[in-house]
Amino acid sequence: MATNRNEDRTTGMPKSGPTVADSANSTAAVAAATQQPPPTMPPGAGPSSAQADVPDFLRFASPTEWVDLPSKGKFYPEGHPFHNKEQIEIKYMTAKEEDILASKSLLKKGIAIDRLIKSVCVDRVNIGSLLTGDKNAIMVAARVTGYGTDYSVNLQCPVCAARNENYNWDLSEVAPQQPDMEWLEKHGYKPTPRGYQITLPKTGARVSVRFLNGDDEEKLDKLQSNRKKANLGESRMTDQFRQMIVEISGHSDRTLISKFAESMPAGDARVLRKSYAEAKPDVDMSINYVCGECLSESEVDMPMTAEFFWPE
Ligand SMILES: [Zn+2]
Repeated sequence: MATNRNEDRTTGMPKSGPTVADSANSTAAVAAATQQPPPTMPPGAGPSSAQADVPDFLRFASPTEWVDLPSKGKFYPEGHPFHNKEQIEIKYMTAKEEDILASKSLLKKGIAIDRLIKSVCVDRVNIGSLLTGDKNAIMVAARVTGYGTDYSVNLQCPVCAARNENYNWDLSEVAPQQPDMEWLEKHGYKPTPRGYQITLPKTGARVSVRFLNGDDEEKLDKLQSNRKKANLGESRMTDQFRQMIVEISGHSDRTLISKFAESMPAGDARVLRKSYAEAKPDVDMSINYVCGECLSESEVDMPMTAEFFWPE
């Protein structure tokens, strides 16, 4: 999913500054790289000679890599750093990112991974504004730059419950997920600038949905934990519908949308949920797992454990 930048020099990717650039000096380094070399220098010698006084071990310090965004930069408003960007640039994980992941206080609040993503992105972005699937793609790519593609997990066969204690999940195979377009189009699917439209089978309501970002997920988590504290029942699904529905058959009144989210027939809710799962830009973090005991094949989701960022 990610291409090594050094192998990608000739593909005309944007922002081909020197690989030594880090967050502190990237502006200066890019400026240096775009300057005309003095006439005494051979053509092309400009960028590296501008760093001549940097010791070799620091010159190697911050390689970068391009990550494919599952969203291809669609669904971001104009002016957003990811707007219409099919790929974005990340720095390899360094000791600085390890420090972020090691911080117990950040982990406890669940913001260590957001900090990590912010830290490796070359573009300055508000993490809360990033689509969930794009964050997943950046998270996996960052992990690979730090600790490689081997992720050892404990899998359980969904059919016979046999355990595989040491399954090696190959992270290089994590790729953007492919929507079931045939199913979506059967339900009148139409892409929109922030998401898509779909027609629900029972009510016939034409619903416009936007894809959720980090801020939305945080809000949903907060609603859920508040409910838990108050001993109220689960309502993640209804909350999520409220959050993602922008318009129903031309009506954008929030009270009306809220009422519909609660009272929608089960068949409509199922189609709305499935359409979101199919249409949302994301990386596919599942595999077809063949059980060594009962030989059945089933789709298994990647377990997220400490091993992901603290491999042995
Ligand atoms: Zn089995």
